[in-house]
Amino acid sequence: MDARHPQPAEVPAPALTLPGCPLCDADGGHLVVRLPVCRVIRADEPGFPALYRVVLNDHVAEWSDVSDADQADVMRVVNTVERVLRELLHPTKINLAALGNVVPHVHWHVIARFDWDSHFPAPIWAQPQRAVEPGQLSVVSQLLPRVDDVLRQRLLPS
Ligand SMILES: [Zn+2]
Repeated sequence: MDARHPQPAEVPAPALTLPGCPLCDADGGHLVVRLPVCRVIRADEPGFPALYRVVLNDHVAEWSDVSDADQADVMRVVNTVERVLRELLHPTKINLAALGNVVPHVHWHVIARFDWDSHFPAPIWAQPQRAVEPGQLSVVSQLLPRVDDVLRQRLLPS
């Protein structure tokens, strides 16, 4: 039996953690949903309200060290987050990224980008291109509780 992919009645194995790693010591943001293999958090990043991360529960630095089954689980979650962001926020573009240079613990960024945001079309980590109307950010922010609810509906077993 694979402990990482339990039947509904089983308790998942505890995550393998590295003390001192920010994604082992804490959720890494506003926790949306915790699943057996990974969790979805909303990063609360200034200027980018719709920045979600899918964080592996285990401390693993490189994607190729994640088991095939866990990779499939994580990608299913990344895909669901992308779809929900597209459906509810209608972004100009979704950005997917897995860098891990600063925090080497596997996590995928799923970011709704808008042509009015401070950095578009550059990556969010690049130099800003323009100032943003606070009203535009608040329109997105007001929709996030609904995004979080739909993510829980789609990702948690019914
Ligand atoms: Zn870690």
